[in-house]
Parts: sequence; C-alpha cells; structure tokens
Amino acid sequence: MAKTKVAPINGSTTPRLELCGAQLLSKIMSIVANALSIPISGLYAVSTITLCWLSTPPARLKAYVCNRVADTVSRIPAHHWRHVPTSQNPADVASRGTLPRSLITNSLWWNGPSWLQQPPSEWPASTHWRNCKNIQELKPFVLLASPPLEDLTKDFSSYSSIKRIFTWCCRFILNCRQPRENRNFAKDLTLEEIQCTENKLIVLTQSRFYKREQKDLSSSGEVSKQSSIQRLRPFLDNHGLIRVGGRLEKAALTSDQKHPIILHHSDHLTKLICRQSHIDNLHVGPTTLLGILSLQYYIVGAKQLTKRISRDCVRCRKAYARTATQVMGQLPHKRVVPTSTFHHTGADFAGPIQVKRGYTRKPSYIDVYICVFVCMATKAVHFEIVMNLTTADFIAALRRFVARRGIPETLATDNGTNFVGAQRELQKIYQFFDSTEVQSTVNHFCTAQNIKWTHSPARSPHFGGL
Ligand SMILES: [Zn+2]
Repeated sequence: MAKTKVAPINGSTTPRLELCGAQLLSKIMSIVANALSIPISGLYAVSTITLCWLSTPPARLKAYVCNRVADTVSRIPAHHWRHVPTSQNPADVASRGTLPRSLITNSLWWNGPSWLQQPPSEWPASTHWRNCKNIQELKPFVLLASPPLEDLTKDFSSYSSIKRIFTWCCRFILNCRQPRENRNFAKDLTLEEIQCTENKLIVLTQSRFYKREQKDLSSSGEVSKQSSIQRLRPFLDNHGLIRVGGRLEKAALTSDQKHPIILHHSDHLTKLICRQSHIDNLHVGPTTLLGILSLQYYIVGAKQLTKRISRDCVRCRKAYARTATQVMGQLPHKRVVPTSTFHHTGADFAGPIQVKRGYTRKPSYIDVYICVFVCMATKAVHFEIVMNLTTADFIAALRRFVARRGIPETLATDNGTNFVGAQRELQKIYQFFDSTEVQSTVNHFCTAQNIKWTHSPARSPHFGGL
C-alpha cells in the first residue's frame, strides 16, 4: 500500500515535508493496523530531524511542527519510530524516479532491505539521532530575571558612585531603544540624567517598603488608615516619589523642605545617602546630620540611623577615640567624711578681673582678685574680693571669711608646683602662697585662730577641694 501527497510550492522546508510524510505514514499505519488487527513493530523514516522532533515534547516546538508532531505521536508513539538509511529505503526508488528496466531488477523495490527478511530482533536499531542537541524549529525561550533592588545596591558603599553607574546603565538602555541617529554618545553625564536616576532609585527604594502606599496613592490619592506613614499625609509628586504632605505649603521654604521625600532607615540606599551627607558635611555629628538630611528627606527612624552612621565612620572613630586616662588617687578623708560646712576649707585665688573704682563719670578700672573658699565636704563656696596679692589683703579676706562662716579646722591652699606651666598671672598667685613672708604671717594668724594651715601635695589639685 502506498500514498502520496503533492508538496506545496512555497513555504515548506525539506524537514517539514519529511515530517508531513511521517504524519501521513502514521495515519496509514494506524488504519492498516486497525483493519488487520496487527501490532505495529516499527516505522522507519529517513530524516533524523523528523525523528528528533517526534521524540521532543511538542510544547517545546514551534506551532507548525508542534501540531504535526502531536498528531503523529498520538497515533504511533515516538518509541516505534526508527531510522533507515537512504540506501536501504525502498520509498526513495519511487520518489526519486527510475527507468522500467531498472525497476524490474531492483531488489530493494520488490523485496525491501535485506534485513527485513530476518527476525525483528535482527533489524537495525540505530539510535544516534536521539543524541541530537541542535534541534531545529525549537521555540525561543526568553528568561527575564529582575533581581530586587537591595541585591543591586548592596555591593555599593558610595551614593555618588551608585548614581553614576546606574545613570550609565540607564543611558545604555535608552540608547538601545533609540535608532542610531538619536542615540546619546556624550562622554560625560549631565545633571538631568543623574537627577533622573536618583529619582528612579528612590522610587524603587520606596516600592520596597511602601508598595501598598504607592498603589493607593496612584489609584485614589490617599493611603489607608493602617499605613505607618498615614499621619504624614503623603502624596505622589510628578516623578512618582512619595513625599510628606504637611502644613507648610505657604511657608517661604524650598519645595524639598516643605515636602521632604519619605525614606525608611533600614534600606541600604538610605544608609548610602546618610553616609554621603555625613562625608560631604565634614563628618558632622548625628544631630547636625539629622538637621541636614531633614532639608531633603524624611527618614523614618532617622535618629538611630544617623547615630549608627557616625559611630561606624572610621575617620570619626579615629578622631573621637577615647584616650587613656590616669587612675586618680584616693580622696583625703576630709573630702569624704560629712562635717559642718567649711569645717575643712580650701582656699584659692581667681582673677584678676577688672572692676570700676569709685562712682565718678569716668571711673578708672583696677585689677582685683577673688579669694575663693571651698568647703571640702559639701563644695559650698564663699567669695571675697582681694584688692592686691599682698599678705595683709589675704589676711583681711580670711578674717572676713571667718567672721561670716566660722573658724575652719583646716585651711588648705595650693602649692606653686601644681601648675608648672601656668601663665604669668597664675604664677603670681601661686608665688604668693609660696613666699616665706606670706607663709609665716598667715601661719601666725592661723595658729592664733586655731586653724591648721596646710599645702596640697605637689601635682594633687584634688586635695584642695576644687
Ligand atoms: Zn565620619
């Protein structure tokens, strides 16, 4: 039994025609097998491409081939199909044409290939076509992967560099969509391009944390009452950025100050913006950084973020590193044991300060000193004015102090060596306490008043109570 079909003049390739032949064969064989009730042991095709298509899932093939393959394998399953070389294919004798005298003696035409007369187990079963990888007419599969923004930005540590790199990428994409004559081949980026990229980056950042708000604002202009930024009365600007509504519309401020952009503190891009602002403003502290950022952005949770940025900045850590401190000695007992006020007193001078002398229209100014008496236990202070650094004036000040506060048991004054590097005026004060005349006179006065006058040990100002 044989059946032929005329091939269309246009449109079909040889592999497609071979497939149509295989489909025709499957139709005939299913009819014959049903009519004679015989099992189908094998069908042979010359084209390895057709055999590949028959063993390929139809969904992977283009529509024309897919439909015919699906129809063919629905009648004769793919595992029944085998390959026959052209030299052993009797159908080739008819399709290629032959002379009658040759046909009479053509054993292939009359008897078929020689192996067909042997048991089916001896028939060749070439399967090399099953390993064919370059199958024609496959559907092209395009896989688009869109990684989340966090993945794209997490490898960047600088806001300026991420802006520039993304701007170059945006320009490349725009150029790909334009005809060649309209493409932008400028060597430098423009400010408009960078600002456009900045807006896109912030829109993507906001979509991570405020996707629902973006949708609500674009559809109805309002956010739901459950939104965490509902109290800010947010709105979408012309670039699609979520900004704070607020009540400062009529204030004499810039647009960014009146309606700052809303950002979330845990986003990496927000951290980059904060870090860039921290560096651009000469490593300002967290409070100042907060103020600078608020001119343009409203960052939810900004306080913790600015603190973290300052704390994590290497340069700031080096600059504000805590230096080693000396362990101070034990305090003397008169400073830590409760007593009546000024029972143990420390005395010292402050000044000089200028004061008016007299009440005339043009008074002269003179230098005076302040004698400071400090209670060791309570830190209460008593001031006396001393006109000159003389023994008499100091004794007079001490008399006035005793008259007002009572007689102290001990009176401690500084030692001149406590402030070796002191300036001239300070040295004058300490030389006053160091002089022999002052010491003998004051000591004489103190002894008469039952006051024990002591000097603080060298380099131990904490002994004086100040
Ligand atoms: Zn810093």
